[in-house]
Amino acid sequence: MSKSKKRAAAGDTVGEGVFQHRALGEPLPSFRYHPDPLATGALVAEEIDCVVCDLRRPYRYAQTMYAFDEVEPLCPWCIADGSAAERHDGCFTDSAAPGLRAKPEGFAEVVYRTPGYAGWQQEDWLAHCGECCAYLGPVGWKEIEPLQKQLADDLARIAAETRTEVDPIYRHFHRDGNPTGYLFRCLRCDGYRLHWDGT
Ligand SMILES: [Zn+2]
Ligand SMILES: [Zn+2]
Repeated sequence: MSKSKKRAAAGDTVGEGVFQHRALGEPLPSFRYHPDPLATGALVAEEIDCVVCDLRRPYRYAQTMYAFDEVEPLCPWCIADGSAAERHDGCFTDSAAPGLRAKPEGFAEVVYRTPGYAGWQQEDWLAHCGECCAYLGPVGWKEIEPLQKQLADDLARIAAETRTEVDPIYRHFHRDGNPTGYLFRCLRCDGYRLHWDGT
């Protein structure tokens, strides 16, 4: 073994490498109310040194954390165990969001321990059957059309609220555009729910 390799073996570089390997091998924490945060874009695969746990992690939280301090980069493990929200007195979804006003079951988990999502204006987190729904991601008419029956109540509400019964606004939703639908699913009855916004 060369001298330089010996030095590396006893030094920080290899130690970091071991640490890194362990973090990379760790399965992503599961989020009951945000089951596929990679698909929704809330998390991205990117190696970071998390500012909360100080560990090298293979995923970065790609949405906003609401806190006085800038908490970036942040890993999903520090979201899941509540340490990011606790240490920085912050949250990932506004606790005053209309859908959370009745404090449905899972309220604290959604607000403090679940990756949020970014809308155009005011994000909401919908609930059904007394519990917070799981957020499935942004949707457009293409994704909504096959779910029209299941979403009948929300679609009627959106059309009435926006006075667009003739040419309903939801037909103009686009998952990558403006306005956008945000699809949720009830964890108790499997029903779908829809929030939307635009500029
Ligand atoms: Zn972390
Ligand atoms: Zn339900």
